[in-house]
Amino acid sequence: TTAHAIPNWHHLARDLKIDGRAFINGRRADARESATFACHSPIDGRLLANVARCTGADVDAAVAAARAAFEDRRWASVAPAKRKKTLIKFADLMLQHAPELALLETLDMGKPIRYARSVDVQLAQNCIRWYGEAVDKIYDEIAPAPEEALALITREPVGVVAAIIPWNYPMLMAAWKIAPALAAGNSVVLKPSEKAPLTSLRMAELALEAGIPEGVFNVLPGYGNEAGAALALHMDVDCIGFTGSTRTGKQIVQMAGQSNLKRAWTELGGKSANIVCADCPDLDAAVSAAIGSIYFNQGESCNAPSRLFVEASIKDAFIEKALAMMPQYAPGDPLDESTVMGAIVDEVQLRTVMGYIDSGKSAGAKLLHGGAQTRIDTGGYYVEPTLFDEVRHDMQIAREEIFGPVLSVLSFTDVHEAVRQANDTPYGLHAAVWTANISKAITVSRALRAGTVHVNQYDNDDITVPFGGYKQSGNGRDKSLHAFDKYTELKTTWIQVK
Ligand code: NAD
Repeated sequence: TTAHAIPNWHHLARDLKIDGRAFINGRRADARESATFACHSPIDGRLLANVARCTGADVDAAVAAARAAFEDRRWASVAPAKRKKTLIKFADLMLQHAPELALLETLDMGKPIRYARSVDVQLAQNCIRWYGEAVDKIYDEIAPAPEEALALITREPVGVVAAIIPWNYPMLMAAWKIAPALAAGNSVVLKPSEKAPLTSLRMAELALEAGIPEGVFNVLPGYGNEAGAALALHMDVDCIGFTGSTRTGKQIVQMAGQSNLKRAWTELGGKSANIVCADCPDLDAAVSAAIGSIYFNQGESCNAPSRLFVEASIKDAFIEKALAMMPQYAPGDPLDESTVMGAIVDEVQLRTVMGYIDSGKSAGAKLLHGGAQTRIDTGGYYVEPTLFDEVRHDMQIAREEIFGPVLSVLSFTDVHEAVRQANDTPYGLHAAVWTANISKAITVSRALRAGTVHVNQYDNDDITVPFGGYKQSGNGRDKSLHAFDKYTELKTTWIQVK
């Protein structure tokens, strides 16, 4: 992007018109009895919009619209090549509206505008484009059945899919759910987080404009225990795709079981371990990946490498290099293009993060950098990038997901013990090992119980690979062609030949 193409974000923010109404059956709609909740920006506390507070009645209306759209097959029966074009148009429209979408995302949840623009909008539209492109390239199967029969194995859309998503990457999490679900021909009801509902609502308008028929993609903002629970308990929702905390994920699975046994897929929390061995091939790369990945998105990433295991003999060198990097992560104005660390999503999350920092200090971890709230005069919620050394495996900061810019350094002398501790967690989302020894790299990456293991890097990511967790980090996988498994039913059809 050339310099002159970058807008003045403060001016754009002042003039931005934000519509907080729900999106049901192709139209904007107030929640029943016009209930709303106030949506404030964590950047400075400004009121962004009064957003529809959807509850059971709104969920019923949206699910009925989604069901009607599925039953008359207004989307499912559209030829794959045409569905492909529509989804690609949707992605194109997101690119056309990229500055507005990025701005909404930054205002809503506090991430730096440079990343909302260059990462979130780009990855979200690419996800929709990728599933669009896939639609007319997937073939069904014919089984090796006896000569007198033909056995077809086909995939059919599961029906009405509910998607419930978190606030940390609102647009991207929406895309990870809706893109494969829509590509497969389902109808979708999306409930964004009450902490960041704005981009999902705008995406629904763009989807309609692209040609996704009315009722096929609905968005219901609202609280988890109201709109979210009503969706999870609904008898006419066939499948629920959930991303959020492990605590809520357990409730979602229970509600699915207690209602109609809707298929329930969960992408949950993490406490990812990053193991750096003394024979690490590039210490500078290891330091910048460790630091960059934990502080990116204010540490509000499910796969953030929040536990850093460093082999004792290189720990001092590692920490010295890490400390030299810390100043560049000082929180700044998220609407300023040079800022790389923005605001924490809200005051509740700020308190949670500060509570963990206090816990680390009182447990005897050594605070080497940060540890304080900052930019308090802005009226927003900012935390300094925080680095703890001498963390023990049994400390709360080493065991629980903090979801903030806090890195815990643990040291090891025996890599097997590091792997044992890395695996000694309820989570299993990501993990990493840095070593120049190929056998060690393979042995350790096999032993790590995580959905994704990185070797000698942490940043690689792409829509082409599955994303999801072992253990209590969830089940099923987002991204890649494997995501179709979640939103389709396999049908066997036996045809007698003679
Ligand atoms: P959360 O569980 O509080 O909320 C997630 C969503 O669930 C929100 O839309 C919320 O309104 C809804 N919800 C809350 N209670 C509900 C209930 N009783 N019934 C139905 N819905 C309910 O999580 P969060 O704070 O928004 O997000 C942070 C969490 O998400 C972290 O744990 C993070 O690790 C996880 N996450 C995981 C992935 C992944 O792919 N594995 C990706 C991003 C975030």
